Amino acid sequence: MKTQALVVLEPGDPFTLQDIELDEPRPDECLLRIVATGICHTDLKSAAGGTLVKCPAVLGHEGGEVLVSTLMTRCWNCYQGGFESY
Ligand SMILES: [Zn+2]
Repeated sequence: MKTQALVVLEPGDPFTLQDIELDEPRPDECLLRIVATGICHTDLKSAAGGTLVKCPAVLGHEGGEVLVSTLMTRCWNCYQGGFESY
């Protein structure tokens, strides 16, 4: 599926909003619609080449999102064994 992302092509390059192709979620993943995201100091450091993140990279990992779809029946990560809502 097509979506947009903030991409840094090479360390030190500016962030650019680009159309990207995103794989369909695997059975152990869910699809989230990102409605907003922030750029934190880790993103800025990564964009400058100061972390182990390899470019080209999609940055902006602190998002607010809505669950769109999932094939998972349990999360397996919380003791309630279900989905948590935030
Ligand atoms: Zn962060």
